Amino acid sequence: MRPVERGELPLDENGEPILFKQYKEANLFLKERLGKYCSYCEMYIPAGLYVEHIQPKHVYPLKELDWDNFLLACCHCNSSKGKTDIIVAEYYLPHKDNTFLAFEYIDNGSIIPHSQLTSQQQNLALNSLKLFNLSQDTCSQNDPRLLQRREAWRIAKETYDDLQNGAQLRTVQNLIIGTGNWSVWMTVFQDNPKILSWLINDAFSGTCQQCFNALNLPISRH
Ligand SMILES: [Zn+2]
Repeated sequence: MRPVERGELPLDENGEPILFKQYKEANLFLKERLGKYCSYCEMYIPAGLYVEHIQPKHVYPLKELDWDNFLLACCHCNSSKGKTDIIVAEYYLPHKDNTFLAFEYIDNGSIIPHSQLTSQQQNLALNSLKLFNLSQDTCSQNDPRLLQRREAWRIAKETYDDLQNGAQLRTVQNLIIGTGNWSVWMTVFQDNPKILSWLINDAFSGTCQQCFNALNLPISRH
């Protein structure tokens, strides 16, 4: 799960912080900051991403228009989480934790808690996978996330071979950006510092760069 920084509340044309009248108004700003990716499953979704309330608005009405309570979600992650009243400390979440360290991406498309976590940390990682129903290992007709992740693995491995055989990054960068699934690319290219740096610093806007400046930091960023 890509750790993200959505930054401060955006400013209007007068340089004043924007006060949203409806939460949906934040959608464009979030896409600009974080790219057109689901903050949880990492699918690339050019149209159809929702403003996701980390803490549900029906339980926390004061957070309905709160920029700090927003991420982006696809309809599948959004509906899996539903109206669950979450205590954020019981989950690893991409806006507050170095979620890159929390999960492992396997080439059959599945996502599991990282094997190097303590058992207590594994529970938090598992809570997150269950919350968004990201731990399924069989494809479903109504939920393309696992299938898309498997497809991303196939494309990423092919691209890895192409680059090994002399292809240039500039010829495949649009493919990488448009395939989404940042963690799959990070895993496939784990032995290529140049591509990793590009994935972190350039290709996917809003990736938490600080999370990679000091990888010995604890998972929790706050
Ligand atoms: Zn999603």
